[in-house]
Amino acid sequence: MDKELVLVIDFGGQYNQLVARRVRENNVYCEIYSYRTPIDQIRAMNPKGIILTGGPASCYEEGAASCDKELFEMGVPVLGLCYGAQLMSLVLGGNVEKAPVREYGHTALKVDTSSPVFDGVKENTTCWMSHNDYISRIAPGFRSIATTDACPYAAIANDAQKLYGFQYHPEVLHTPEGTKMLGNFLYNVCGCAGDWKMDSFVQEQIKLIREKVGSGKVLCALSGGVDSSVAAVLLSKAVGKQLTCVFVDHGLLRKDEGDQVEAVFGPDGPYDLNFIRVNAAERYYVKLAGISEPERKRKIIGEEFIRVFEEEAKKIGRVDFLVQGTIYPDVVESGLGGESAVIKSHHNVGGLPDHVDFKEIIEPLRNLFKDEVRKVGLELGIPDQLVFRQPFPGPGLGIRIIGDVSAEKVKIVQDSDAIYREEIEAAANEYAYEAAGAAGVKIDRANPDHALLRSYWPSWMPDQYFAALTNMRSVGVMGDERTYDFAVALRAVKTVDFMTAESAQIPYEILMKVMNRIINEVRGVNRVLYDLTSKPPGTVELE
Ligand code: GLN
Repeated sequence: MDKELVLVIDFGGQYNQLVARRVRENNVYCEIYSYRTPIDQIRAMNPKGIILTGGPASCYEEGAASCDKELFEMGVPVLGLCYGAQLMSLVLGGNVEKAPVREYGHTALKVDTSSPVFDGVKENTTCWMSHNDYISRIAPGFRSIATTDACPYAAIANDAQKLYGFQYHPEVLHTPEGTKMLGNFLYNVCGCAGDWKMDSFVQEQIKLIREKVGSGKVLCALSGGVDSSVAAVLLSKAVGKQLTCVFVDHGLLRKDEGDQVEAVFGPDGPYDLNFIRVNAAERYYVKLAGISEPERKRKIIGEEFIRVFEEEAKKIGRVDFLVQGTIYPDVVESGLGGESAVIKSHHNVGGLPDHVDFKEIIEPLRNLFKDEVRKVGLELGIPDQLVFRQPFPGPGLGIRIIGDVSAEKVKIVQDSDAIYREEIEAAANEYAYEAAGAAGVKIDRANPDHALLRSYWPSWMPDQYFAALTNMRSVGVMGDERTYDFAVALRAVKTVDFMTAESAQIPYEILMKVMNRIINEVRGVNRVLYDLTSKPPGTVELE
């Protein structure tokens, strides 16, 4: 593909995916590579610019992650961030040492607004600092273009060589003008055109898929989640009825979810494809009966999925391609992209390739971040509710029911969860209509612009929320009669990246309303609890 490419060279910092996302938000395509990538390979990729990320090491220590001096001599603009800025200084003849004052958190930053990287940035702005070391002497040819109280070289520049360094992290939202600064580097220094847009991505992929698939048969396991749905629609636009989607309803989906998926992808939906829905709930419940150990439950659900899928695939006969909804964070986290080691190896459809007869895997979303996948989904006309569906674990409600799973318990969680989601969304939307109105923005209640509405949601709006069954029974009284029923737990978290999370501060009266409705409407529940735990130490899911 002949497109602009910026390289993000990974030194093991914690925000590296964020760096890449910010670059792409500036409509410039980028990819993450390890600092171990040979210089010849870097040169061969012909990048428009290079960004060096932060990292945990001290660059002056023996054995610390480093880079070739040549990296700075190729005539390609380089921006070093934190560790990257320190390393650039050290390699080019400056000095880095332990800082007399370490900086962490929001820090006032004074910038030289005449620098091309600070074009349009306020002279007195804020940045996010997180460092123990600092640049104590800049390399020859460099000058300081920003300072903080503790840091004489908070940003440095060698304009002639197009080399820049920020001691702070422009990629995190705590640096309010950070995205602009990165954009300035990309546009003013690298001369990028900003042609990375999702509509052209869609056209390009459709063309590529057609070339690759030819008249072959394609098989896709549809989960109802965002990634597999977007991948499936992309394939259907490219090859139509050559695509068969198998949707395994394992009976552990959210309320009505199976029907919603069928409404979109089934014969009455707008897409041209073969759709097979397998209602396998009974099979799963039998397998899961009496099993309460979380890992065993996960394993059973995963294995059963493969078995069901395999049976269907056999009926279809030999296929040529298997579609997977792998996205870029999966690639990076499995150690193929960057430096953040092998966190976990992702298999979107656990082990499937070993069991099904096919020639090749197609992963059309492999280079996209989640927000880009969503944009592609909207571009393809996939319904808003599906595109913005909350993350949902593969084992589904199976791991939102603590202990053993039964049809009765699944129904309790489904009904409680549906009430919870309905009330939260209604309250958030009500808030948004008023907030928009107060800001002079009119949103049509009968046919709202969902994206606009979402932008006015209250700050307490959780990024993920659901009901779970605690499997604990307790005594209550209802209608003068003793009850001995289940307790439902409500979970709601605010998170940016799902690596850490905090419980959301949903207004009390909304929680009370949810509690009331669940007790009144869901049989078998006599207690509702709110989970306050953050992550760590908790996880977002309960099992
Ligand atoms: N480890 C280096 C320091 O402490 C760089 C930190 C970073 O990149 N965030 O200064």
